[in-house]
Amino acid sequence: MAQLIDGKRISQEIKDELKEKVASLKERGKTAALAVIQVGNDPASCVYVGNKKKACEYIGIGSVSYEMPEETKEEALLALIDKLNEDTAVNGILVQLPLPSHICEDKVIEAISPQKDVDGFHPQNVGRLAIGKKGFVSCTPAGIVQLLKRSGIEIAGKNCVVVGRSNIVGKPMALLMLRENATVTIAHSKTRNLKDTCRQADILIVAIGKPQFITAEYIKEGAVVIDVGIHRDGANRLCGDVKYDEVAKLASAITPVPGGVGPMTIAMLMNNCVETML
Ligand code: NDP
Repeated sequence: MAQLIDGKRISQEIKDELKEKVASLKERGKTAALAVIQVGNDPASCVYVGNKKKACEYIGIGSVSYEMPEETKEEALLALIDKLNEDTAVNGILVQLPLPSHICEDKVIEAISPQKDVDGFHPQNVGRLAIGKKGFVSCTPAGIVQLLKRSGIEIAGKNCVVVGRSNIVGKPMALLMLRENATVTIAHSKTRNLKDTCRQADILIVAIGKPQFITAEYIKEGAVVIDVGIHRDGANRLCGDVKYDEVAKLASAITPVPGGVGPMTIAMLMNNCVETML
């Protein structure tokens, strides 16, 4: 049976390290505050925003909430972001996605100052990642690299297949694995022979957004499998993009859902917030 990659334990380890770092930065007079903006009250977003605020409290940084109604005009949101960009007491700005459909997400992401973009979504930060320069990195992919490293899994020289090419997971994930010297393939909905492509992977990272899509047939024996997906199955239990029970029998290591990639996203958001204090 595969080694379980324990995101719950590793994310706690990271948050505890950050808590210590924040305490020593505070002794040197440095502080940080994260502005969290939510538009509307999508239940999942409320849970995510609540968890982010709790994590700030845990590691010892401030958070200021802006809860805006669903019908908020795009201009009003952009004006708030402008104000926060100028506010020297705010080091990080996070706009919870998705936004209501009348607001253009790209415009909002581009309005956030790249120096305060703790989600790492601004094109300037994505560009810096692409050319190997320092900048904020998208939290979920950064968390996956930490999961691998802290589980003792070597990345350099390995064949890594990333399934999914979204701007927030698949693409930055592929860039990060390249930075870590893996040989990287990106697969997507137009990929021919997805099974064969996946079976080449020493490290398979799945961010498709389709419940239990990846079965044992996609796995090379001994592969490391990282499951980014989060869904509810027919019995309302959380599950991922990977059919865990059958894949775990073939893989050498695997992330569970829940308790794998999920908790790492917030830990890495906190890491980005602490970076703003340095
Ligand atoms: P998107 O829907 O934006 O992207 C899905 C990607 O999967 C697309 O690139 C798409 O290809 C590809 N894809 C879809 N169907 C197939 C298929 N049959 N074969 C191959 N590729 C396919 O999703 P996200 O990247 O935003 O998220 C993916 C999953 O991860 C979701 O379940 C989401 O909930 C979860 N997630 C979890 C996070 C966490 O913290 N754990 C954070 C973010 C996301 P194409 O581009 O060709 O359409």
